[in-house]
Amino acid sequence: MFAVEKSTSTAALRHSLLIGVIVFVACLVGILSRLPGTLAVFWPTNALLLGLLVRAPRLATVPMWVCAVGGYLAADLVTGASFESALWLGASNMIGVVGGFYAFRWVGMEDRQLSSIRSVVYLVSMTMVAAAITGCVGGAANVVLFGGTWSAGWILWFSGNLVNYMTIVPLVLTFPSLRQEDRDPEASARILGLSVIPAVLLGVCILLEWVIGGAGAIAFAMPALVTAALLTNVFVTSLMTAISTVCTLVLTADGHLGTAVEGLSAVSASVRIGLALLATAPIAVACVIYERRRALDALTEAVMLDDLTGALRRDEFMRKSTDAIESLQSGLPVSVLMMDLDHFKKVNDTLGHRTGDTVLVAFADQVRRHLDHTALFARLGGEEFVVLLIDTDLDEATRTAEIIREAQQEQSMTTLGELGPTVSIGVACSPNGDADVAGMIDCADEALYLAKKFDRNCTVSLTARS
Ligand code: GH3
Ligand code: MG
Ligand code: MG
Repeated sequence: MFAVEKSTSTAALRHSLLIGVIVFVACLVGILSRLPGTLAVFWPTNALLLGLLVRAPRLATVPMWVCAVGGYLAADLVTGASFESALWLGASNMIGVVGGFYAFRWVGMEDRQLSSIRSVVYLVSMTMVAAAITGCVGGAANVVLFGGTWSAGWILWFSGNLVNYMTIVPLVLTFPSLRQEDRDPEASARILGLSVIPAVLLGVCILLEWVIGGAGAIAFAMPALVTAALLTNVFVTSLMTAISTVCTLVLTADGHLGTAVEGLSAVSASVRIGLALLATAPIAVACVIYERRRALDALTEAVMLDDLTGALRRDEFMRKSTDAIESLQSGLPVSVLMMDLDHFKKVNDTLGHRTGDTVLVAFADQVRRHLDHTALFARLGGEEFVVLLIDTDLDEATRTAEIIREAQQEQSMTTLGELGPTVSIGVACSPNGDADVAGMIDCADEALYLAKKFDRNCTVSLTARS
């Protein structure tokens, strides 16, 4: 118990130090983008820190806050700021992150992953709260450090933080999980392929922004970003939006968009707020599409799969089997297994329907364990299941059937003893793959009927007629 607590606190300390380093490095990046006598053009630190804490609230420990403050102060001090200046700037930055973190506590974990259009409303509202809080202390810093007015400082800190929050927080919240079990290489490869067109489009748009310039150029990237939202996912859309926003900020500060003003407003508050609000559009589209896609997937799954066992439904099995046999190289064998649990009614009658359901689920899991990804497995109804085995002859299909039968016998005996249902299996094979699915099912059914007659818990195999 003590050892567990100790290792947990060591990990927390390690995470806190890591956050301190991230804050320090991100501040240095921001300080590098500072024009003389002004605030930074791009300040990723607050948004990065807020994004991390919103995504993983358990990181928000007292040592973490201490390390974060240390990171802010150290970055300013090592780059030559006075202690007073470092203190004011650090306080302005930190207060917004703390405020944003507590504001996000109202938002559930699912919405923090930007899973619906409602999440975008939360994202915009909460980051506005964080930016507004920063503006309050930043306004005072403007009076003390730069001799300006509180209101001018407020709008500058508010707009600067808002654009950075809208650029970086979505990126951190939707960054793909690094855990091995969450990875889906196939899906990642598909998204990568789909990202090519919007990425090229974005490159062209940014080039046009640079060449043509002018105030309207802040919206040039919109077609590329909307394309990303339509084709890819929320993370890629957020990434491209972030790249576009940073490029536009740099081009604006550089005078390319004709909006640079000397002094504190190197990039005007109006442009920053405009960019922040523009960023919401592609992210909102990506979220809506993600929400729709999930709803459609759930609907498709409900139509295709049996809700108790997760096996295919009969119609889907017939459709997929017919397609699989048609696309199979001619001359290859195809087999069907018809499986029916023995005396299953007794389980229901003696142990109750709920236990019966558990037995069906366990049996389906058992069958799946013995099939490869080319096999099709369906629940035809009640306690009857069917399997289609592509490129499998009668001997191999019978062997598979026997493995399933023996595994079921063992599992049943272990969990329910004498009452545990065994399984009878009928196997039919079309040696040249030229029989139709319905005919093979009829043949396997005939074999199953014989298996039931031979006192159950056995496998009977037949060759299907063409
Ligand atoms: P046999 O060995 O001849 O196949 O006998 P059996 O008792 O397995 O077959 P029978 O057709 O007499 O009974 C099947 C039972 O399956 C009857 C029905 O109550 C039960 N059943 C059908 N669907 C479900 C279900 O979804 N859940 C549960 N728990 N039972 C189901
Ligand atoms: Mg039965
Ligand atoms: Mg039956």
